[in-house]
Amino acid sequence: MTTNELRQLDKDHIWHPFTPMKLWLESDPLVITAADAMHLIDSDGNRYLDGVSSLWCNVHGHRVPEIDAAIRSQLDKVAHSTMLGLANEPASILAGRLMKIVPNGLTKVFFSDSGATSTEIAFKMAAQYWFNVGQPQKCEFVGFSDAYHGDTVGAMSIGRMPAFHQPYFPLLFKVHFAKNNQIDSLRQILKEHGSRIAAICIEPVVQGAGGMLIQPPGFLREVRKLADEYQVLLIADEVATGFGRTGRMFACEHEQVSPDLMCAAKGITGGYLPLAATFATQKIFDAFLGQPWEGKTFYHGHTYTGNPLACAAAIASLDLFEKNDLVRQVQIKSEKLAAMLEPLKNLKHVLDVRQKGFMVGIEVCENRSSRRLFDPKLRMGAQICQRIRKHGVILRPLGDVIVIMPPLAIGLEDLQKIVTAIKTEVAAIS
Ligand code: PLP
Repeated sequence: MTTNELRQLDKDHIWHPFTPMKLWLESDPLVITAADAMHLIDSDGNRYLDGVSSLWCNVHGHRVPEIDAAIRSQLDKVAHSTMLGLANEPASILAGRLMKIVPNGLTKVFFSDSGATSTEIAFKMAAQYWFNVGQPQKCEFVGFSDAYHGDTVGAMSIGRMPAFHQPYFPLLFKVHFAKNNQIDSLRQILKEHGSRIAAICIEPVVQGAGGMLIQPPGFLREVRKLADEYQVLLIADEVATGFGRTGRMFACEHEQVSPDLMCAAKGITGGYLPLAATFATQKIFDAFLGQPWEGKTFYHGHTYTGNPLACAAAIASLDLFEKNDLVRQVQIKSEKLAAMLEPLKNLKHVLDVRQKGFMVGIEVCENRSSRRLFDPKLRMGAQICQRIRKHGVILRPLGDVIVIMPPLAIGLEDLQKIVTAIKTEVAAIS
């Protein structure tokens, strides 16, 4: 089919995620038909660096021979079988492998298929844990301002972003919101409501979708301490930060923190197939053991839970992490990236540059000295990313924050190309 035919079919029938569809219908979207390592290739054969790793999930690049081969080999065995009542080979092997890399104390994994399902599952596990141990009054949650945990109802309740979620506010359950990065705000909530609180949920170290907001050193450790003091579970949402993204396998490691429940998705399969994981401690798991009639069972599941193809991809991805010493490589390359970003800080339209590993947010504004922001109607972040396409780079902003979230295996030359494209286009704003 021609590019125009494909575009037309899209415009006729597809409703895109997080997309103002009126603008989409007036645009000429790129149609991706292939990929090669760090590049996406469109239907006209143009190549673009995948600067946001296909929405923060690609790790080793595209069409990685080892992951392709693992999926093909699994295809010759079985593509899907249910985990409701059956075990499967790749899920068992993957679970064993994951236990070797997750923070201490996490011993069980519940598989699902997206970031939002992994957080929803953690919230339900936390509430039912307290129910099962005879404290059903502990059923409320603490979240943080500017946090994002996905788009299902529980995830929107605890990670409430007015810009995205306002129409659904009447549907959402009550949550206590601490101010991000302000430990006293959390302490106050726990002082007043601790006896009713099931869990605190946090994006550890970096709040991604909120604009790459980086927590001060020691913050997560303080949160852990307060959770212990008030007997509240700690849920770490590592959906964005997990699998090497911040320069540690999991961001919790920066602060030597072990959560009670941990959510992961995105990079778990190297960015190949939908898979997510909610990890739990033995103590939490044990509270769900009992005879079926005791009502302790976790009645939750998804059709594609623990899908064998996705698990096979995840195992191959973990092999590559080891073979390429990838987490260490991210540490080394992110220092170089920090140096590349330095000149951006002098631009008139750059308000702030935030970076942790391979999570970067460059906040643009109308005038740095007066700290005046652009009129949101200009959609300046989106405009800049659109202009950056002519440099052969695909980026997607968060409002007026330009995001760099490349595949972890990206080389320095490609990183420099992304930064130069941003610098050129931000400097060109009149
Ligand atoms: N949690 C965090 C921290 C995220 O950044 C995201 C997605 O960006 C999610 C949850 C939701 O993941 P998904 O889009 O796979 O449902």
